[in-house]
Amino acid sequence: MELNQRQEKILKIVKQHGPITGSKIAEQLSLTRATLRPDLAILTMSGYLDARPRVGYFYTGKESEEVMTSKIRNILVSEVQSVPILIKEDTSIYEAVVKMFLEDVGTLYAIDNNKALAGVISRKDLLRGTMGGNDIEKTPVSVIMTRKPNITICYPNDLLIYAANQLIEKQIDSLPVVEERDGIDQVIGRVTKTTITRVFVNLME
Ligand code: ADP
Repeated sequence: MELNQRQEKILKIVKQHGPITGSKIAEQLSLTRATLRPDLAILTMSGYLDARPRVGYFYTGKESEEVMTSKIRNILVSEVQSVPILIKEDTSIYEAVVKMFLEDVGTLYAIDNNKALAGVISRKDLLRGTMGGNDIEKTPVSVIMTRKPNITICYPNDLLIYAANQLIEKQIDSLPVVEERDGIDQVIGRVTKTTITRVFVNLME
């Protein structure tokens, strides 16, 4: 069951201030007790809140499976994305390795002269680049990167669950978050397996 905005607000108030009477909740929301009655009834019936006479409403502390699932389902990429590490596509493999260590990331994104996404460089791409006799100080990452149109991307307004599915399906570690700015697909974030793990842990806590 989806809660409406007002029910979410009531839940928040009770979580913070419970046990709290219906009138006090109404006061905090600048509404009348009568207006709140149906919402309080729904919240109580669905098990989010419990009510005791003369004590008031309190939060049951039990997030139903449904609540948890709908929470997860509604997380947007923009809410959890992290900062992308970008390099120019003519950066050398050597510089890219250094960058990866300094920034402590597993994937770099290459951009072209217009700052548009041009490629993805993973750890294994760099390892491959160091083999086979390349001069890694001279060879640009554009030679080893996965390039457009083979890049799997996501958008800030995508659901996180979509991004997570892509990571699994494509067997990759990260997705660049792309937004069109000035007619150019710019990388504004990244979603990685760590992002998903962090969300998972936060929800559990
Ligand atoms: P690693 O290669 O270090 O295990 P990945 O599993 O992320 O890391 O990368 C595997 C391959 O998939 C690499 O060649 C990489 O360039 C490519 N890759 C990584 N992320 C993406 C993406 N978002 N879209 C397309 N290809 C990607």
